[in-house]
Amino acid sequence: MPNMRRQHLAMELIQALVLALAVSSASTMSARADDCPRKGTLGTSRVLRIDAGAFPRVGLKNYPQTLPLRDHEVVLTFDDGPWPPTTPKVLQALASQCVRATFFLIGKPASEHPDLVKRIAAEGHTIGYHTWSHRSLKQIDPSETTKEIDHGIEAVEMALHGVESTTPSTPFFRFPGFETTPATLDLLQSRGIIVFGADLWASDWQIMTAKQELKLLTDRLRVARKGIILLHDPKAHTAEMLPAFLRYLRENHYHIVHVVPNGPPVDKDGAP
Ligand SMILES: [Zn+2]
Repeated sequence: MPNMRRQHLAMELIQALVLALAVSSASTMSARADDCPRKGTLGTSRVLRIDAGAFPRVGLKNYPQTLPLRDHEVVLTFDDGPWPPTTPKVLQALASQCVRATFFLIGKPASEHPDLVKRIAAEGHTIGYHTWSHRSLKQIDPSETTKEIDHGIEAVEMALHGVESTTPSTPFFRFPGFETTPATLDLLQSRGIIVFGADLWASDWQIMTAKQELKLLTDRLRVARKGIILLHDPKAHTAEMLPAFLRYLRENHYHIVHVVPNGPPVDKDGAP
């Protein structure tokens, strides 16, 4: 019965395909940061160590200087987390491609989700600070700005290490909405804390689909060719877009640079 034989073979083929798909999706799901580096992934091409002496403020959207990146090198940064519905998806996408990024966390959600803060650090990402409640440091009373910065640092330190400290483990800070004042810039510089702006962004604070965001971001990257990229991990469209964006980076020969502080953290007086 040739027909039945063919049907049988076809069934076997379909079953094998279903099994192969299940295995491959299971291996994607179980991709973990500690399996890295891993062949066939985008990976993290190098670690860039910076200190506040040479790089007090970086990001050409905001400041005259940026990180010393080569053509086709990008630094991924994520603001405004941790946020349980979406941050884990972002972490999964990064882990599946062995990519390390920097997360600028807001103190209040960090105090509410300490396990997620610990997970970000445990997966090898850099953790920076983004104030306690994301109020604009330009709009609020100047007497409150230091507290807003310090309370944010304390909350993240407590989540990370269970220690109340206004000395950041990593001296990286980003202003909410990039809204600075001369006094707050001076304060951070006096403490040896590097202020991060950005070189490009996906404008993901606006309402858009993941597909629209991917197009906007890749169009901008094609022009910029490199840089510090700002994204927001609490945005569902960004979490949804990220796997495709990482695939784009890989297919277009971009390289991921992981930024870390040079040397031990400094205390608030700027002394080593
Ligand atoms: Zn923000």
